[in-house]
Amino acid sequence: MTKIIDIRDRTPKRSTRPLSRITKIARHHSATTGGDFWAFWNGRWKGLGWNTGGYHEIIFPDGTVQLCYDPNVITNGIANHNTITYHICLVGNGKFTEAQEKAFEERTKLAMKRFGLKEKDVLGHKEFSGASTACPGIDMNKVRLSLTGNKSPVKEEKVKPQVKGVQTSSSQRLLRNVRPYMRGADVEVVQRAVGAKVDGIYGDETERLVRAYQEQHGLIIDGIAGPQVFGAIAAGNKLSKPKYSRLLRRTIPMMRGKDIEAVQAILGVAIDGWYGPITEAAVREFQRAAGIMVDGIVGPQTWNRLF
Ligand SMILES: [Zn+2]
Repeated sequence: MTKIIDIRDRTPKRSTRPLSRITKIARHHSATTGGDFWAFWNGRWKGLGWNTGGYHEIIFPDGTVQLCYDPNVITNGIANHNTITYHICLVGNGKFTEAQEKAFEERTKLAMKRFGLKEKDVLGHKEFSGASTACPGIDMNKVRLSLTGNKSPVKEEKVKPQVKGVQTSSSQRLLRNVRPYMRGADVEVVQRAVGAKVDGIYGDETERLVRAYQEQHGLIIDGIAGPQVFGAIAAGNKLSKPKYSRLLRRTIPMMRGKDIEAVQAILGVAIDGWYGPITEAAVREFQRAAGIMVDGIVGPQTWNRLF
């Protein structure tokens, strides 16, 4: 498994964005044979008067990942494209090790999954409009090819529901104004976020307010609450920091509550308030991506990372 050095709480930073704004992943090279975030910061970026470093992740020749920024931080990777881009840099100058490529593939696949992006959304620095550079020093068509197919080093966990009769759908449903009305806890989450009356019924008023919410957040305005809207809600929840009150884990009988709904909203799984196998698997995946202990349990550390 990829070794992670987490320096996110120490790096200088300024602006943030909702995760729903991220539509591209950029690959860079450092154009050096060595160095890390601090070498680049002190040697280059600070002198340029930057408030924030260049990359979210830096991959060393031995495959170790230096995790520099949370994805909601806007970094200085490519002028005019930073608001929508997640930046990953490989230390090297047009030459990279097998360990680096393996780590890049793993990290990029995780990011693609997290932001709902496809191989075509993974671009080399020089493929962005207006960029004039040799970076990332590799044929991106080959890179994108390596991201397709099922040879992901990040194995999907197969989980079986142990308790019968509990909803365990892994995909969030699309909420829309249809007859009969759609009802549920997920509707309430949306209503709370858009400022509608919280009755759990997706009607005309909810649709109207979802449209307004979509307009405010720069999303497609269709009145349908899907992954984009839930992503924006999750990003918004992050800012409001709900208080940690108890250890959340998979138990028999299952734990249930509003705090579990909040976790589910962040993780993008079906919001039913039950701490079941899907939620546990999503927590494990989150922990792996965050570089913290992977136990499928939301304790104080995981809670603080989530929110
Ligand atoms: Zn670059």
